[in-house]
Amino acid sequence: MYPQSLVHEPKFHPQSDQTSITRIAPSPTGALHLGNAMSFLINWAIARKHNWHIALRIEDLDTPRVKPGVIKSTIQTLSWIGIDWDSGPTTQADQIQRYQQAMEKLASQELTYPCSLSRSQIESAASAPHSGDPGFHEIIFDISLRPDRIPCLFSDVDTNWRFLVSPEPVEFCDTLYGPQSFSLLDTVGDFVVWTKRGTPSYQLAVVVDDALSGVNQIIRGSDLLDSAARQILLYNALKLGPIPNYTHLPLVKGEDGRRLAKRHGDTRIDTYTQRGTTPEQIIGLIAFWCKITKERAPMSIQEFKERFSLDTLGTDDITFTSEDDQWLLS
Ligand code: GLU
Repeated sequence: MYPQSLVHEPKFHPQSDQTSITRIAPSPTGALHLGNAMSFLINWAIARKHNWHIALRIEDLDTPRVKPGVIKSTIQTLSWIGIDWDSGPTTQADQIQRYQQAMEKLASQELTYPCSLSRSQIESAASAPHSGDPGFHEIIFDISLRPDRIPCLFSDVDTNWRFLVSPEPVEFCDTLYGPQSFSLLDTVGDFVVWTKRGTPSYQLAVVVDDALSGVNQIIRGSDLLDSAARQILLYNALKLGPIPNYTHLPLVKGEDGRRLAKRHGDTRIDTYTQRGTTPEQIIGLIAFWCKITKERAPMSIQEFKERFSLDTLGTDDITFTSEDDQWLLS
């Protein structure tokens, strides 16, 4: 659990547009890096500019990867940058019942089934590259692997359960990337909604949490653009509409074109902090990446909020260069 001292009392801004709610949803699987900082800062800036309510949700269900102490340091890092929120932090691991109820609702419509096939059994049916990272392969779950009988009860919580994907493409319009159409049958197939660890998958948890907290504005990295299609199917199946407005953001990549990760050196915000980098430098670098400025220069979070625009950001991914790194350490 997070320390009580870090729990913010809900605070409502004087002219808050109470009809718009967004969330900042870090996964405590590793300390925040520059890519996370960019997404969260932009989410915060857009929300504050439009007086939306910001909820902080810690996505702690990825149990094998959640690291001790990271929840606390994630919250501290967000605060250090100057990002604030109006409610939360909430966590997911202590709310399993709500996800179980969602599973019961899906099962009663015969939309899910238990599946204990191994990765290699599924992989031998088909596989395709993932759009977010050229090195990563997402497995397609081919419909030939579906069982003959689909149950109408969610019974065995210690097995993976998959969602029956419909053949029609899922269509939506992303604020930045424009009209999208995903044929899930060809790109992912029946995806996992419940895991054999006894917890919901990311796809199910995010839909249940966003719907129950009234989130209607989702801003996050474009590696989750195709996840939006899966999430829309779940919104519809669970009758949890209206579907939120999606704004996906370009990713920060290394000079090798791969998503920013440990292989690109230590780009954790905490490490820069320890080496003397200021929040204004981090924000100034992100402002440069977002084409707010032509040169790297320190910037306050308030100035970032005033000057940020999705129009200048564009959809091209950002490259984190050695000059960026040197400037942060200068
Ligand atoms: N927890 C995810 C992350 O840290 C974000 C999930 C979402 O915004 O839907 O990348």
